[in-house]
Amino acid sequence: MSENPKPWEFPTIDSAESHLRAPNFSPFILNNLINGSFSPCPAEATYIDSYNPKTGQLFARIHDTSAEEVNKAVEAADRAFTAWSTTPPSRRSKYLLRIAELIEERRELFAVWESVDQGKTLVRARVEVDRAVSNFRYTLPYQLILIKTNEVRYFATYILHQSTSARWTDDNVLTYEHRSPIGVFGLISPWNMPLYLLTWKIAPCLAFGCTAVAKPSEVTSLSAYLLAKVFQDADLPPGVVNIVFGTGKTTGSSLVKHPKVRGVSFTGGTATGIQIRKDTVEDIGKHVSLELGGKNPTLVFDDVDLNKAVPMAAKAAFENQGEICLCGSRIYVQRKIWKEFIDRFVDYVKQNYILPQNVGAVASLEHYKKIRYFLDLADRSGGNFYLGSVPPEQPEAGYWIEPAILTVPDESPLLKEEIFGPVVTLTPFDTEEEAVRLANDSRYGLSSVLLTENGGRIRRVGERIDAGLVWVNCWLVRELGTPFGGMKASGTGREGGDYSRDVFTNVRTLHIPQ
Ligand code: NAD
Repeated sequence: MSENPKPWEFPTIDSAESHLRAPNFSPFILNNLINGSFSPCPAEATYIDSYNPKTGQLFARIHDTSAEEVNKAVEAADRAFTAWSTTPPSRRSKYLLRIAELIEERRELFAVWESVDQGKTLVRARVEVDRAVSNFRYTLPYQLILIKTNEVRYFATYILHQSTSARWTDDNVLTYEHRSPIGVFGLISPWNMPLYLLTWKIAPCLAFGCTAVAKPSEVTSLSAYLLAKVFQDADLPPGVVNIVFGTGKTTGSSLVKHPKVRGVSFTGGTATGIQIRKDTVEDIGKHVSLELGGKNPTLVFDDVDLNKAVPMAAKAAFENQGEICLCGSRIYVQRKIWKEFIDRFVDYVKQNYILPQNVGAVASLEHYKKIRYFLDLADRSGGNFYLGSVPPEQPEAGYWIEPAILTVPDESPLLKEEIFGPVVTLTPFDTEEEAVRLANDSRYGLSSVLLTENGGRIRRVGERIDAGLVWVNCWLVRELGTPFGGMKASGTGREGGDYSRDVFTNVRTLHIPQ
């Protein structure tokens, strides 16, 4: 085995697991991709240790990239911008299609290492790899459907079908909107769906003619490293995408503050979003899109069919261990079905969300401690556990937390703070008015789930919930052209389809008399 093994040498779960168990095992060292090459870590580099959440074993060392190295990446992206921004959309599209093809070919490799790195189940990781492909282009079954309906998306094909609006003034001056790529973007992503969320930014950034310096979370950097290899193998022109690893404090902060970074697309926590806004406030022309935290309500009305509502509320709560910003972690249930719902919900979760088969480990020790803090707080301050318990203070082998279902007093922080783990609260309500008030009693406004069979109620309630996304009798359904983003402390700006075009392009209006 080579001294510095590479993750792509272990493309299956069996080879990955035997590599991790090997007596001569040495952690991966992740190098930045700058100007098309993997750059060696400088002698004075500092590293962050990355652990396998399922075992607690050290398995990678992440270069905490300095401001100086970030500068090299931004300079490379800036040099690449002139040619890339004027490359015809049809050629850019071909690169995107090639990237999609390579990710698809390496589906298992990506899924295996995403699962090892993040703690998610392999099944869930595969779903996210497919979703990552769809950021560049639809996966095959979708393509067939869309070709039939004449709708061709996403971003590889979106850019081949653009339109603009033209108007005439009263005295026949033609006006039309022209868009041009903005420049270098800093693309920063969190640890919960690492590959999907980073490609959700990279695909439109490249499609609309911008160049990128992308930084994944220091907690989950592996899939970005595999993605860097894909960019190399796709022969993407050097500098068009650069990937830098490191902490937010060092690498992320110097990236967003860099004067040649003309836009930032960020997904992560609200506190970090506020910091990024502060760090960019003087550079007023910098486009900043912020997709932030959530504390999403699920409203269950008494007219539902519990055979459907219970699995839906459970999926929205516990998919990916509750580590999806869109998970519904506050469940409100109408009083008439309160008792029956609790019994059936607890029973369903017990039967269907089992460690480690379909619930993974939580992403890091730090995150384990955060979730444990809230469970312990609930235990000490009047919380009632229907399922789950306070996990041990020091986990023994991996960061495993059983799904927890509880009721808590009205003023409990568990109803206010984003926990971002396998924890849900249940609260009863009586009327529609009360349901809307409780749903909106939050600083956040990202998403919500509305479970009811009553058509009028869908609109009466759905149109008043403070949330960028309202799912009615469904969850996590998304067409990539729909606006994605939150209200209140869940962020500013929207991404998706035309909304992503607004993020990555400048619009100017031309006025042309006859
Ligand atoms: P985080 O804010 O701690 O980190 C996110 C990213 O920002 C990481 O790459 C981190 O290194 C970087 N970062 C940290 N400080 C920075 C700074 N000062 N400047 C620049 N970059 C900096 O978030 P997290 O803990 O990784 O992820 C969990 C959070 O992400 C949750 O709040 C969750 O709701 C949110 N999230 C939101 C969405 C959405 O679409 N709205 C999607 C997924 C996750």
